[in-house]
Amino acid sequence: MPERFDEDLRDTIQFHGHLCPGLALGYRVAKAALRELDAGRPDDEELVAVVENDSCAADAVQFITGATFGKGNLIFRDYGKHVYTFYNRRTRKGVRISEDYRGFDDDPRFPALRKREEAGEDISQERSVYMMEKAAAILNAAEGELMTITPVTGPPPGEAKIRKSVRCAVCGEKFMESRGRMKNGKTICIPCSEKED
Ligand SMILES: [Zn+2]
Ligand SMILES: [Zn+2]
Repeated sequence: MPERFDEDLRDTIQFHGHLCPGLALGYRVAKAALRELDAGRPDDEELVAVVENDSCAADAVQFITGATFGKGNLIFRDYGKHVYTFYNRRTRKGVRISEDYRGFDDDPRFPALRKREEAGEDISQERSVYMMEKAAAILNAAEGELMTITPVTGPPPGEAKIRKSVRCAVCGEKFMESRGRMKNGKTICIPCSEKED
């Protein structure tokens, strides 16, 4: 078990379903962001998190910061990068956190395991040991070795708007007006607009 086995980490693992390197990273990133931005876990939409991947790390970011898709203060940009940007709307401060851990760069075990897996060998046992070790290393790494934190300026992405909903002329289901498509002079939803006619 990692040394830094705090209570909120245990709850984060429970929320996500397992401990893994991605979750460990998201946990460290989110904790650093709250500290840098002087924010506790907010109950409202004061904190905005922009995640550049939809990996396990995003679950820890949600759980620790309280930013969620539903509230509109968790924003996903599909860049496949371990980069996380946080804004505090109250103080107007922001930080960009980029993962930069090199602790496993030269670890020969990963390519070796991969090779065996490709050869059809069952490596699930060893893989989970390796992953657990990696998660523990990330939880215990010095912050400066794990991530680069830089302040950001500029306004945070917009607040959740109340949007009008309209009814699709084809399927009759309601959808957000801004997502409508025009086809043959009718406003319809995206799934209907993508169906062949
Ligand atoms: Zn995971
Ligand atoms: Zn429709």
